[in-house]
Amino acid sequence: MTAGSTDGCPFFIGGEWSSIGTLPTSPVFNPSTGEVIAGTPLGGAAEVDAAVRAADEAFPAWAETPPSERARVMFKYRTLLERDFDAIARLISLEHGKTLAESRGDLFRGFEVVEMACGAPTLLTGELLPNIARGVDGELARHPLGVCVGITPFNFPAMIPLWMFPLALVCGNTFVLKPSERVPLTAIRLAEVLAEAGVPKGVFNLVHGDKSAVDALLKHPLVKAVSFVGSTPVAKYIHQTASAHGKRVQANGGAKNYAVVMPDASVEKTVEAVMNAAFGCAGERCMAGSSVITVGDRGRAVIPELVKAARSFTVGRTDIDEQPAMGPVISAAHRDRVCGLVDEGEREGAKVIADGRDVTVADAPGGFYFGATIIEDVHADMKLVQEEVFGPVLNVFHVDGLESAIAQANAGCYGNGAAIFTRSGGAAREFKQRVRAGMIGINVGVPAPMAMFPFSGWNESFFGDLHMQGRAGVLFYTQPKVTTSRWFAEGEGDIWHK
Ligand code: NAD
Repeated sequence: MTAGSTDGCPFFIGGEWSSIGTLPTSPVFNPSTGEVIAGTPLGGAAEVDAAVRAADEAFPAWAETPPSERARVMFKYRTLLERDFDAIARLISLEHGKTLAESRGDLFRGFEVVEMACGAPTLLTGELLPNIARGVDGELARHPLGVCVGITPFNFPAMIPLWMFPLALVCGNTFVLKPSERVPLTAIRLAEVLAEAGVPKGVFNLVHGDKSAVDALLKHPLVKAVSFVGSTPVAKYIHQTASAHGKRVQANGGAKNYAVVMPDASVEKTVEAVMNAAFGCAGERCMAGSSVITVGDRGRAVIPELVKAARSFTVGRTDIDEQPAMGPVISAAHRDRVCGLVDEGEREGAKVIADGRDVTVADAPGGFYFGATIIEDVHADMKLVQEEVFGPVLNVFHVDGLESAIAQANAGCYGNGAAIFTRSGGAAREFKQRVRAGMIGINVGVPAPMAMFPFSGWNESFFGDLHMQGRAGVLFYTQPKVTTSRWFAEGEGDIWHK
């Protein structure tokens, strides 16, 4: 692949791979070195229209394909993904920058949705109630919607597309995926493997692009449903625009997640979990524990341990065999934004107690590195507290009781996840009941639900009704049809038989 070329980023439309060389491109970086490794072609209305039409043409036959046959494609997909597991994980590390272990986790969580989709015949089984009135039966069957669309962010190049299309497809829909222009290579590999698994032409399509491609998808009259994951302003826009154009929409947005450390928490286990929550994937996770709230002096005892752990956290390249604890962030611009937020917070009185701003990696001076950073004395009016930082930065709050901790966790506009570390069942229950977030962890730092449960937040972290994956995903990708039927006994009511 040559730098900036689109050769490595083809579209997949109607079962054919094609490069559209005349389109403008957006650079794809190897964040470990800063080198450009590809260029994402920025498709527009014409490419989107071709993909949606291909999906629409393929829909009737695919919708009529028995669910067990659709599931068989997923069984094959699962086997092939397993075969290619390590190669795909390396590709994620290359274009995203997360460590190989994190990339394996990224793919594995998506892989679990594929496994769930293999159960399509059971997932789609309907309901029947005989005798809703004498001699009358009621029956509910779940039908597919038509062409569904997935628009995904950069931070989980495998898992997030896999939240969407495996379930959409086994439910009998056809699909158009528009991955993040910053990480197109993993999506292309996922599509190649799906084609190899035998998905019929047009059932799954891949287009590349940015806002123009997204807008064309949101407004296309043949698109029935839109699944989106990304930042809150864009999620809100997607929800409003797609809804205004008559689509069913689920849109996951950004987050600011709190981890509460109670005085009775296990220090060692809590430090391990909070380090992972705050600095795993370089903080570029919607479930990142980006703020810790310590309760009382004993809760506060985790802070020196966290600082020690953060200062010894290795940062380095993830595109080589020897792996660091943490890789780079996605781009130079993003690193500079994170750095700017920390600088501004410090100017406004925050205290940086572990400082990752000057981290460098000797053999990769052009990489986008930012070390593990911990900040105390933050205030509600700082951008550091209000905005999603999406980098390896942990804000620290100290409070004197559970009541104040819950108030702090509920203070912002988001509501994705929250965690509590404690040995008290009563405190954990109180927290679980009263925190306004969609995903709660008890002694678990990143409570990202598994495939059989829904993954989405509350408040400004989610726009729509039905959450992603799990049974909610099946409901999102299907519409119920209820049939009320009445049959008569031979000759009953036929006056000419009398
Ligand atoms: P982003 O919002 O910039 O981009 C997401 C997608 O939207 C991309 O495909 C992009 O091409 C498209 N897009 C960007 N700007 C657009 C615009 N103005 N109009 C239409 N489409 C547009 O997000 P990102 O930076 O790629 O990802 C990080 C964000 O995603 C963070 O806020 C993170 O919290 C969030 N996220 C949320 C979840 C969740 O489940 N809640 C999961 C992962 C990531």
